[in-house]
Order: sequence, then C-alpha cells, then structure tokens
Amino acid sequence: MEIKKKDIRALTKDQLRAFFVKQGDKAFRGNQVYEWLWQKSVHSFEDMTNISLKTRKMLKDNFVINHIKVDQMQRSSDGTIKNAVRLHDDLVVESVLIPTPSRTTACVSSQVGCSLDCRFCATARLKRMRNLNPDEIYDQVVAIDNESRLYYGRPLSNIVFMGMGEPLMNYNNVLKAIDKITSPEGLGMSPKRIVVSTSGVPKMIKKMADDDVKFKLAVSLHSAIDEVRTSIMPFNATFPLTKLREALQYWYAKTKNRITYEYVVWDGINDTKTDVDALVEFCKFAPSKVNLIEYNPIDDGEFQQAGSKALDMYVNVLEANNITVTVRRSRGKDIDAACGQLANKGQ
Ligand code: SAH
Repeated sequence: MEIKKKDIRALTKDQLRAFFVKQGDKAFRGNQVYEWLWQKSVHSFEDMTNISLKTRKMLKDNFVINHIKVDQMQRSSDGTIKNAVRLHDDLVVESVLIPTPSRTTACVSSQVGCSLDCRFCATARLKRMRNLNPDEIYDQVVAIDNESRLYYGRPLSNIVFMGMGEPLMNYNNVLKAIDKITSPEGLGMSPKRIVVSTSGVPKMIKKMADDDVKFKLAVSLHSAIDEVRTSIMPFNATFPLTKLREALQYWYAKTKNRITYEYVVWDGINDTKTDVDALVEFCKFAPSKVNLIEYNPIDDGEFQQAGSKALDMYVNVLEANNITVTVRRSRGKDIDAACGQLANKGQ
C-alpha cells in the first residue's frame, strides 16, 4: 500500500537535522539538504549532488518535494509577465513580474481565491479554496527571480503581496515565507523591499506590530467613509473604519513606519470633495502616503474610473494638506495581469 509521503519543506531546519540523527546520520546532513531545498530550490532529490545516492533514495522513499510548476507564462507588450502557477493539488494561482527601468517587482498570491468580497475585484469572484503554504509563496518569488534574470538580466528587487488573496488571513504562512525570503539561508532579500497589502484586518495589523515585522504595510482603503466603503468592500461592516484607524495608530506607534493607502477613484462612488476631505482626515492619524491607482475594469461596467478632473482634485487637496500622493499607471492590462484582474481566466 502506498503511504502518503510528507512534504519535506514542511520541516524546519531543526526537524530536518533531528531526522538525520534518528537515521543514524550526522545532523549536518540536515543543513546540506536544507540548503538544497531552499537556497538552491531544487525540484528533486536527484539534484542534491553532494548527498550520497543511498541517502537520496532514502529521502525519496520518505518525502516528496511539492514544488510549484509554472504552467503558462504570458508576456505583456509593456514587459509585464504573468505566471499561471500550478500547485501540487492541481489548483492554480497567478503571480506577476513588473519591470521598470530601476526595479523588478514580483506581485505574489497568498491564497487560492480570496475570502473577501470587494465588488470591484475579479479575484473576489473566485471561491477561496485554501491558504498557500510558505513554500508555495516562496516558489512564486523564486520563479519570478529566475525570469527577471533570464529576460531582464537582473535579479528581482521588490516583492508586493498584492496578488490573489488576503495576506493577513493567511498570516502565519505569509510570515514564514517572508522569513525564508529574507533569510541568508533563503534569498537574502531586505524586508524593506517587501510590501504586504491588506484590505484592513484590524486584529492582524496589531499582531504585525506586536511581532515587530520589518516589511512595509499598505492598506487598500478606497474610501474613508464607512457607508461608501461598506458598499464597495462589504466586509467593512465587520471591520469598520474606527477599528481600522485604531489598529493603524497602534501600528505606527510601535513601528514608526508610515502607511501607504491604495485608493481608486470611481465615477459617482468616491469622486466628491466630501470623499477627499474624509481621506485627508483619515491620513492625519499617522504619517501616510496615498497611491491613487488606476481602475482595471473587470468587465461588467458597474465601476468606472473617474476622469482627470476628480483625480486632479484628489491630488490638489492631498498635496495642500502635505500628504504625499502618487498617481500610478497600471501594468500588464492586456494580459489581465493588473491589480484586481487575477482570476485564472485561462484555466
Ligand atoms: N487583499 C489584499 C491584496 C490583494 S488586492 C488587499 O486588498 O490589499 C491588491 C490591490 O489591488 C488592492 O489595493 C485592491 O484594492 C486593488 N484592486 C482590486 N481590484 C482592482 C481593480 N479592478 N482595479 C484596480 N485595483 C484593484
């Protein structure tokens, strides 16, 4: 009878060392294998060339390496690359490589589907199937780093958790993945180059502050008026703005890291002076920056990007109040790789 083998990357380094000691081998063997699994990211035990054939076979008899597989890679006319990533249980998530002259950013997924219900987001229409494991998040980053080297001749420089899913609803695994990404035993990237984007789960924002995390925080705000926000992000009824604000103040008090708000301005939804005034008030609670992002239509025409008049008003009022504001163009639209468009369309 075939027994179900365990994913070897679910073991910590210490557990791996202990496993080898139990096998009558040296603990050091665990370090070697760990390095193959993470730093060198091998897909099979056969590739562990400094491990004896006998040991490789023993590992193969006991474990599997649940590696992701890039099923399909699409390249946009602006250089953006979207990967459809197949997981060991055949579910699919997407991740995106965004090149600019000065950096390469990976936009990675944290869940298969999403548990939230933002009405303007294509991913929200997929059922949340499950959380991604730390190695599945890590592998997406490795795949994009390889593509960046191959197509753009430079390593990956930044990571944003803005793909599918709500990272703070898979907090433990996201944290473990970031540990590996930033560790010298993994990719050795600086946490300052990582942004975790959340729709705003107050309890988890406080937890991040308590955990003294070193990466950056972005909040998808879209409105600083409860009624409006609840109408476009229904979970706001459960986590209203007063709770979010309180959590963000706590975050700032502990980390002294400023907060970035992501914000789309839509026609007839949040395009009035009252809306921008509410945003200014919200930004006063902690040093903040506002990214006005372009809306990427998700086909039923219910939401429309506001025109330049409304955008100019936002920029002028925010700047008059000394709040940093940037207007961001979207990337990879032609291949459905832009914010809010990840929905496994080809699958
Ligand atoms: N759940 C997390 C991360 C995924 S969404 C979060 O909410 O932050 C990444 C960003 O894309 C968020 O700011 C989200 O509000 C935005 N977004 C979602 N749908 C969009 C769309 N159709 N056009 C533009 N931005 C969108």
